[in-house]
Amino acid sequence: MKNVPRPYTLVAELTHRCPLSCLHCSNPRALVPKWREISTDDWLRVLDEAEALGVVQVHFSGGEPLLRLDLEALVARARALSLYVNLVTSGIPLERARLEKLVRAGLDHVQLSVQSAHILRGDRIAGKTGAHATKRKVLGWLRDLGVPFTLNVVLHRENLGEIDAIVALAERYGADRLELANTQYAGYARENLHALLPEAAALDAARERAAFHRTRLAGAMKIIFVKPDYFGDRPKACMDGWARSFVVLAPDGTVLPCHSASSIEGLEFWRIDAGSLPEIWARSPGLQAFRGEGWMKDPCRTCPERALDFGGCRCQAFFLTGDARNADPVCARSPHRAALEVEKERARVGSLQVLRRGRAVSGLPERLTFSPRR
Ligand code: SF4
Ligand code: SF4
Repeated sequence: MKNVPRPYTLVAELTHRCPLSCLHCSNPRALVPKWREISTDDWLRVLDEAEALGVVQVHFSGGEPLLRLDLEALVARARALSLYVNLVTSGIPLERARLEKLVRAGLDHVQLSVQSAHILRGDRIAGKTGAHATKRKVLGWLRDLGVPFTLNVVLHRENLGEIDAIVALAERYGADRLELANTQYAGYARENLHALLPEAAALDAARERAAFHRTRLAGAMKIIFVKPDYFGDRPKACMDGWARSFVVLAPDGTVLPCHSASSIEGLEFWRIDAGSLPEIWARSPGLQAFRGEGWMKDPCRTCPERALDFGGCRCQAFFLTGDARNADPVCARSPHRAALEVEKERARVGSLQVLRRGRAVSGLPERLTFSPRR
């Protein structure tokens, strides 16, 4: 179809269910319950159609994709379609035998998350006793089986001082890549902003340590430090542009440009029962809403950097200004920059309570007291 970009990555959110309840979880507040998840046949069809659309890699993610018992079948289909297959996982629940099965089915790469380099802090952030120890077991299996993997750590005020220890953990288990990703304040993370937002000095120190290790380990391990949204003067090119390179499928089959876009009020996104994936990709009103540059207002409309960052993050613009068409307030050129300072102030006066997603998706989120790091 004319003038419609071809996405190269499918993000397949197989489920929103997860045994953990991380403080920084960016899943939407309204989680899709198990009974609304699409079937194995639906996913197989989506994989076929994604490949026909031009997709070359698939990220199986969630929630926790290991909770889908059909994961092996989906990995096998993706492999048969010659897609590059990545599993984005917390590593819980996993047994070594299942990991071997997944590798035999065609898994190319694993992105395993840990919450901290330390056992107690890791468990506290994840909201589950024993989580960190289990993850270390999985790291050992990945190393022993020679599975290429990225260690992913979402950074925030609780663990930002741990860069050296986190790098040591990644080295110990032979990670190919270490992704140090500062928290994106969407979903539950936004609710817990007061418990997560770091001080600027701590961020600078962490960035320096990451740069030091990046140089030290050049050629052995790739270290990525994903810049924090709230502390710069230019936004990120969120998802490489709206509905441009990534196609995201929510667990109920809703086709999205990013996993939190459903939080933007007033947009209409179609589910896969509305037609084929290529048709939905081309015609869904929600996907067309911010595709290209036609939707832009000033200052983005005439900005020479608009082809670099696409005006930043639409979700962030909506959360902070109430209008997703505004420039991302992270940008120093945005007339709504003050909204970012208001948000940071909100974090400073926040209570000690945090919002944890319900462990069973049908359960209600829990508000719990969280003791800050001493
Ligand atoms: S961030 Fe934590 S709670 Fe959220 S899906 Fe990932 S592992 Fe589960
Ligand atoms: S004004 Fe818009 S396009 Fe220009 S740098 Fe800022 S967010 Fe990006």
